[in-house]
Amino acid sequence: MMVPRPVSAVFRTQAVGLLTLLLAFTITINQTAAQRRSTRLHANPANTIEAAALEFALNAEEVTQLIGKTADITASNGKEEQGVEITRFLTGRDKSQIKSIEVKAPNATRSKRLLVTRLDEMKIDDKLYQFQYLPSVKAAMLEDLSKKNAAISEKLKASNEEFWEEIPEEEQLKYVNEYKEFLDKVGKHYASFNMKLYETRYFLFYTDMPANQVAPYLVQLDKMNELLGQSFGFKPGHNIWRGKAVIVAFIAKQAFLEFEQQFYNRTETGNAIGLCHSHGDGKVIVSCYRGNDPNFFGAVLVHETAHGYIHRYKSTVNIPTWINEGIADWIAMMVVPSSREVRFRQVEAANRLKQVQTFGGQFFNNERLDSWQYGSASAIIQLMLKASPEQFKLFFNGIKEGLTWQDSLQRAYGLTVDQLSQAYGRTIGIPALTP
Ligand SMILES: [Zn+2]
Repeated sequence: MMVPRPVSAVFRTQAVGLLTLLLAFTITINQTAAQRRSTRLHANPANTIEAAALEFALNAEEVTQLIGKTADITASNGKEEQGVEITRFLTGRDKSQIKSIEVKAPNATRSKRLLVTRLDEMKIDDKLYQFQYLPSVKAAMLEDLSKKNAAISEKLKASNEEFWEEIPEEEQLKYVNEYKEFLDKVGKHYASFNMKLYETRYFLFYTDMPANQVAPYLVQLDKMNELLGQSFGFKPGHNIWRGKAVIVAFIAKQAFLEFEQQFYNRTETGNAIGLCHSHGDGKVIVSCYRGNDPNFFGAVLVHETAHGYIHRYKSTVNIPTWINEGIADWIAMMVVPSSREVRFRQVEAANRLKQVQTFGGQFFNNERLDSWQYGSASAIIQLMLKASPEQFKLFFNGIKEGLTWQDSLQRAYGLTVDQLSQAYGRTIGIPALTP
């Protein structure tokens, strides 16, 4: 199954000089206002996050039963204590609330004490536990990850979705070779273009652009990979891709259109400058063309590849369009600040909404966004992230774990769609903005 997601529409503002300055100024003001008001978005951040952390937490009795067991414990900085015996839990009055753990290494004579604030995961008898620190009680609960994942798996199955499989290293190599064969075919089709392959840890970048122009784009893609991992909850160095992500980047539009027709049998591309082909088997191929605006192209490239990342994150669950496009534009703005495109779109969206004071039911549940709506999508995502990165992580993961986005919004932020709409509305001077 192929799910291409066109970048819409590409609203190109050629504003220069004073106009640019004025717009930039407006944005600065809006963002400061957003920051000030965003506190309303997370009245009780600890409560929603801690409530979610408690759902699969071990109770006092279950915690006590782990004493005497052999564990592998991973600290937040990646350091591991392997094969240590748990000799004692130091807890609060509630024995499930752990402040530190005493462990003894196989040949050690004395136990040592590990503070839970520095711990990440613990493995005992093939079962995985996550330390969930709760600031309100200054202690951690032990979340039973195996139980949690089994429950999510069941839920996903009910809607024909599943976790993406972990792919062993040898197989990753096999996929990369498969992509290289495909790119070889592409190269033969465009023989006179003299296309070249640039391979990085996570990307195969195939292009007819001159070598000296390619390097900055590769840096931006790596940055995107890292920043999205951080925002969703993967550790640095985690490879999300099936093998690697494939990017086919042409200089000219005509070559891009021909690629879509030849290799994807697609003749209708709208005004897309890039497309992300997110295949059902996990393969991700981005095709795009640079045209005459290298900065804007950088933003398009990051935007499209972000769709691939969102597709590959955790499970096969599709992310609703406004969230998908909002994240893709937000990350493009973060990684390619030299492109003003996303900021222009945010201002344009605010101006449109000021006239009508409502989304008119044509935003949150639409499968395709109008080009001006991209600005609202990225502004709302930005607002949610600013309010609390932890709540955003919970929100996004909730959807990938099978909650509807509305339920996930309620769980993570304690907000209804109406309230989210108003919170965004307040940042653009429309406090009664309706969805
Ligand atoms: Zn898009």
